[in-house]
Amino acid sequence: MGHQLIDNFGRQVRYVRLSVTDRCDFRCVYCMSEEMTFLPRAQVLTLEELAMVARAFVELGVEKIRLTGGEPLVRRNVGQLVADIGALPGLKDFAMTTNGAGLGKHARQLREAGLQRLNISLDSLDPTRFRRLTRTGDLERVLAGIRAAREAGFERIKLNAVVLKGRNEDEVLDLVDFARGEGLDISFIEEMPLGDVSDHSRAETYCSSDEVQALIEQRYPLLPTTESSLGPSRYFRMGDSDTRIGFISPHSHNFCASCNRVRVTVEGRLLLCLGNEHSVDLRAVLRRHPGDMAALKEAIIQAMPLKPERHHFTTDGDVQVVRFMNTTGG
Ligand code: SF4
Repeated sequence: MGHQLIDNFGRQVRYVRLSVTDRCDFRCVYCMSEEMTFLPRAQVLTLEELAMVARAFVELGVEKIRLTGGEPLVRRNVGQLVADIGALPGLKDFAMTTNGAGLGKHARQLREAGLQRLNISLDSLDPTRFRRLTRTGDLERVLAGIRAAREAGFERIKLNAVVLKGRNEDEVLDLVDFARGEGLDISFIEEMPLGDVSDHSRAETYCSSDEVQALIEQRYPLLPTTESSLGPSRYFRMGDSDTRIGFISPHSHNFCASCNRVRVTVEGRLLLCLGNEHSVDLRAVLRRHPGDMAALKEAIIQAMPLKPERHHFTTDGDVQVVRFMNTTGG
């Protein structure tokens, strides 16, 4: 377990976001276009291959793994993968990002299989608007999923809300009050220019974290904290609540200098940076050398010098990265 994954800028990779599917039962307007084509099964890593990738990274010093999608809970037998990864010695933080709609059915099994933390996407508390933002989502199922997650014993559940001007910024305080009332944390995310979404102009809907913070401070003064979840969130506290407020601000407060993460897509592409296309094909290694952990680890180590220094996102609405968010899940 001695090796460390260090890039050319001296940053250590300690966190991997592992996408287990590009598919989803929602079509969120900032993540996908209305009509999507998904990967054929043959191009998708098997659960065994995904588990092997996770093990390789943990043996190379990675402490945190987050399962993402698309929507991870639409992947059949994902519970088995959670059990395999949850059993890895050396893994300190094991989380999942989900739209919550499948938690009613899966929360208890995930918790028992060793999953430690959940991030649940929730951009609106208005059923009609929720349906419009997700194109297919049912708010009631997500709220039931949050309840099921808490009953299953998940602690520090965090909500993720992408704020779009003219779409849901008027609900920021409602979302904070919901999180306070339910004993949840919440992070507000600046939209990232991945994929040519057909629904809106990102230049028009861009809402900075500073604007969101100002909205919240109309009611709750925010106290900055040094708390971290090994991710990009900057956390704040309110004097009268245990709820943490986070901001993920790729545009207004760039966090690339302290980047500690890489992503693996469900087709086995090791993406060194969300905002660039630098990558290595781990699927080729997995299928050319089945079961060969040394070959896989060597490919990961050799990829580190490819990691770019930073993203070059702008807020002018131009699409910087062609791939949609569902290929990496953020
Ligand atoms: S954009 Fe790239 S360099 Fe910046 S924090 Fe994200 S992954 Fe790291």
